[in-house]
Amino acid sequence: MALTPDGIGGLVGLIPDGAALTRLATGATWSEGPVWLPSSRRLRWSDIPGDRILEWWAQDGLLHVYRSGVEFTNGRTLDNDGHVIQCSHGNRRVERDVDGTVTPVVDHYGSARLNSPNDVVVDIDGSVWFSDPSYGIAAGTVEGHAGEREYHDHFVFRHDERKGRTRPVVVDVEEPNGLAFSPDGALLYVSDTSAASRVAGNHHIRVYDVVGGRCKNGRVFAVVSPGVPDGLRVDERGNVWSSAQDGVHVFAPDGQAIGVVPVPETVANLCFGGDDGRRLFIAATTGLYGLDTTVRDAAAVRREAVRP
Ligand code: MG
Repeated sequence: MALTPDGIGGLVGLIPDGAALTRLATGATWSEGPVWLPSSRRLRWSDIPGDRILEWWAQDGLLHVYRSGVEFTNGRTLDNDGHVIQCSHGNRRVERDVDGTVTPVVDHYGSARLNSPNDVVVDIDGSVWFSDPSYGIAAGTVEGHAGEREYHDHFVFRHDERKGRTRPVVVDVEEPNGLAFSPDGALLYVSDTSAASRVAGNHHIRVYDVVGGRCKNGRVFAVVSPGVPDGLRVDERGNVWSSAQDGVHVFAPDGQAIGVVPVPETVANLCFGGDDGRRLFIAATTGLYGLDTTVRDAAAVRREAVRP
């Protein structure tokens, strides 16, 4: 479908003239966790309640089921070696998938099991940062297995794989969800989706100064409405692209809302990818959508600068 001029208002310069939102695939129950795999030119994502990992292949433009019975994977990213790092509600862990072999990265904080890791980013130093709300262990969940919150809270953690150390870095978000670093890595954005489960909950994105691997000075960056900001990404210019009920909301680095990409289904997450890294892939309820942009993911650009 073509975007209306209103629909790309404010996004001039970020969306090329004539770009159109395209539905690439459908048939999922709740789409989440998209990541672009450059070596195979595939977009991999989660159908969480369907307990499947799906792929859209650029090669044939078709939907493929990568794996079923995957213990309810959610958000994913690439590590600095290009391997897939993904969250698993059912396994209550963050895990790595190397050519189909899945191994744990982190599943405990002290003696407590994690709740249900939701989304994950890998910093330039290789540390794994992930959010740990409790959606995947809630009573009656169709996105995991009901269980106890063993450390009685919801944190964002930083896991140092080499040292095997896991520490909380954000403890003041009710239901931490999407994560992304600014282009220089000096800021961490964290979405709070607590409004999805209770009336007085939050539907905003907070931002933190990252100092020595810790998060300081948390403040509200932007309020997202309608719906909640689930997954988000930051582009190379520092703009924040957030999921919302009615599409993808884009915010300038100072938090000003600059435009909306309307999407006909509720958006859960998104990522940049494609052969030039400038295609936006949107995981939205039953579907996967694509839209050309003029920008690349901040993390991809930063990783390239350090490891050409
Ligand atoms: Mg999420």
